[in-house]
Amino acid sequence: MDIRLTNTLTGEKEIFRPADPKRVTMYVCGPTTYSYAHIGNARPPVVFDVLFRLLRRTYGESHVLYAANFTDVDDKIIAAAIESGRPAGEITAHFERIYRDDMAALGVLEPTFRPHATEHIPGMIALIETLIAKGHAYRSESGVLFNVPSMADYGKLSRRDRDDMIAGARVEVAADKRDPADFAVWKASKPGEPPEVRWPAPFGEGRPGWHIECSAMAKATLGETIDIHGGGRDLIFPHHENEIAQSECAHGKPMAHYWLHNEFLSIDTEKMSKSIGNVKLVHELLQHYAGETMRLALLSAHYRKPLDWTSDLLDQSKATLDRLYNAFRRIGSAEDVVAEPPAGVIAALSDDLNTPQALAELAALATAANKAERADWPRLKAELRASGAMLGLLQADPEDWARGGASEDAARIDALVAARVAARAAKDFAEADRIRNQLASEGVEIMDGPKGSTWRRT
Ligand SMILES: [Zn+2]
Repeated sequence: MDIRLTNTLTGEKEIFRPADPKRVTMYVCGPTTYSYAHIGNARPPVVFDVLFRLLRRTYGESHVLYAANFTDVDDKIIAAAIESGRPAGEITAHFERIYRDDMAALGVLEPTFRPHATEHIPGMIALIETLIAKGHAYRSESGVLFNVPSMADYGKLSRRDRDDMIAGARVEVAADKRDPADFAVWKASKPGEPPEVRWPAPFGEGRPGWHIECSAMAKATLGETIDIHGGGRDLIFPHHENEIAQSECAHGKPMAHYWLHNEFLSIDTEKMSKSIGNVKLVHELLQHYAGETMRLALLSAHYRKPLDWTSDLLDQSKATLDRLYNAFRRIGSAEDVVAEPPAGVIAALSDDLNTPQALAELAALATAANKAERADWPRLKAELRASGAMLGLLQADPEDWARGGASEDAARIDALVAARVAARAAKDFAEADRIRNQLASEGVEIMDGPKGSTWRRT
């Protein structure tokens, strides 16, 4: 089945044709590791994780190469290092660890490559030297600048007019620009900056600009031309436009054939911002919601549509997973067989990653499982599991899910259930009933069976 993807470069939904089906390549811009990831930061890794899973199923696991970087040298990291007096590497290692834990909780598979900017400085310097030699970049007091008018088709991704681009480029203050749209590829070291963010280079000690980091890491891990480049919509300009400028002027070939961008996420219909005080950190949300609930919430809207993050959305997502896992539990005793995901699930995902439709297909499977005769249980069980795997959902033990996972709350309920067993053994039926009623009021049902007492959330 053909995969269709909306390409920002053309504005069209196109059939995806990799340059080499035995080596499909995808690069997605990763986080700058100086603070916690908020839920908006989690949308691209989860969306492109679904694409990664679809590509792996289509072309074979070993034929898909996926790189997602860590930006571990950047103005914000340097500011954090100076402010805290801690080495930059200590800050980035700390937040990288948290980011990796957060993404694992959201069911994000480990990409093939996880390059760090600081590991690729020689590649960045080589790229900048090529750009200088070809007349696309020049040395200046502030470092090295890319000369935008030297590229005839600059702006082809964002299709912005020149005034817009100049306004965007003005964010980087530099009095030494030949053209107002020029941008930094190398930033000369400033007094007071810590030693670990200074690298010697033929064009003066300094550090790379953010855009050249991705150009160099994409080249080092995947090559000069890649199939898919992805990221959040906010990266189209200037970040991806400038990646294209650097890579294409240096290599004389397209940087990527398909450019994919996910839409924004809002909080209760408002833009997430520190000044409003509505920033939702993944790390904090995970203390209240299962990672799988958050993942389903992130996939409940199509990636090219805005997603409004609300507590209702999370409650609905939890209820959806409860329904799916309950269907799973009904047929859970069936023997394990191997099955492909139903065609409807693959068709939905192949149609520009239509995750809402894929979730509707999963719901239909659950309905079928709730009605099915025993003879159909093995097939339905395998289809539910295989479909869930395409979305990174439904891989937990359904009994664990019903118990709410191995959370602290689960441990507390386990203890209450044990106390009730002890009360019954001591013929203290009033106490046993009191515990049962207390748990019932919390929505927890105790089930007494021949092998002892278990519980589930109702
Ligand atoms: Zn990037």
